[in-house]
Amino acid sequence: MAVERIYLDWNATAPLMGAARDAMVEALAMPGNPSSVHAEGRAARALIEKARREVASLVGAEASHVTFTASATEAANQVLSPVYRMGKSRVSLGRLYVSAIEHPAVRAGGRFAAHQITEIPVTRLGVLDLDALSALLAAHDPADGLPLVAVMIVNNETGIVQPIRDVSAIVKKFGGLLVVDAVQAAGRLPIAIADLGADFLILSAHKLGGPKGVGALVSRGETLMPEPLVRGGGQEKGHRAGTENLAAIAGFGAAAREMAAGLVERNAHVSALRDRAEQAMLSVAPDTMIYGRGGTRVGNTSFFHLPGLKAETGQIAFDLEGVALSAGAACSSGKVGASHVLTAMGEDAATGALRLSIGPTTTEADIDRFVATFEKIAARRKPAGQAA
Ligand code: PLP
Repeated sequence: MAVERIYLDWNATAPLMGAARDAMVEALAMPGNPSSVHAEGRAARALIEKARREVASLVGAEASHVTFTASATEAANQVLSPVYRMGKSRVSLGRLYVSAIEHPAVRAGGRFAAHQITEIPVTRLGVLDLDALSALLAAHDPADGLPLVAVMIVNNETGIVQPIRDVSAIVKKFGGLLVVDAVQAAGRLPIAIADLGADFLILSAHKLGGPKGVGALVSRGETLMPEPLVRGGGQEKGHRAGTENLAAIAGFGAAAREMAAGLVERNAHVSALRDRAEQAMLSVAPDTMIYGRGGTRVGNTSFFHLPGLKAETGQIAFDLEGVALSAGAACSSGKVGASHVLTAMGEDAATGALRLSIGPTTTEADIDRFVATFEKIAARRKPAGQAA
């Protein structure tokens, strides 16, 4: 008999919400191109503009400041550009400063060459080292152009929340621009682009219950914008050419609308379940290491290491028992490497860590299954120092 599966890997991707699916089905039935002026085109356009308002409202931005892209990764490649435009003038940004724990989508540096990228360290608690950021920006050579800084709100592996307002205060003091990857934060924490002090936000629909393959770049203003990455027709006000993915955008809008309501209740639900899982893990195996537990974390994530168990082995063991969770970040072709996040935190990342990440439809029964499986796996592990 096939084991019933439980899905505890929401940071990799969240299941598609019913409201998003319905909006997509409706959009798929529409024949028009959103750029056409006839009634069919205008109906498609109206759907995109509705989604734009819904996505903007989730992050306290103006609808006209949302550019839809094919992914958060594409949005990152667009915004991490050494060339910006202010009207017809060219503005150069000679150096990119990225936190050491960014997702590879940002860490890769977009259109900056490797020698133009500087890493900002984090503390042992996984929080950006603000003194290091100040020192780096103080040493920034203005002849290089403005500094561009990229720091995420919520880390996808640990769930640790970064002090974005403090980061922004430093970046502004040195006249820089701040790009914030809000992929794992949107819908999980209250976000308003201006309150955060961010110049740009990066979003991805599939972490919110929307479809995979659509994201957004959200800007605070529109005077200073990165050079477009995808050129062609004038879609998205010239910031991102190509006929819009109507169904995906409609699904993104619906998911954003759903996630904008009930945030407090959702958070209470997921944190209670996550805390229950962590307490149970610690009582079964008191030597379990849970990263970021003492600090500020988003409520749905637990990143843990069980001495004597290699993350990769653990992941397979959970999978065989019907429990889907991931070993570190799962964005790269299923391969499990040493976590750059743990390395940046000064942890021994060699045996890796497992990530449990849950969402609003996760139940107590799911957590109990996880705990029972954890107990079984913990009982089989090798003594510490002999990770299998
Ligand atoms: N940023 C973070 C923090 C993520 O977790 C992810 C996906 O895992 C991305 C960016 C990339 O998003 P997308 O899959 O839309 O390219």
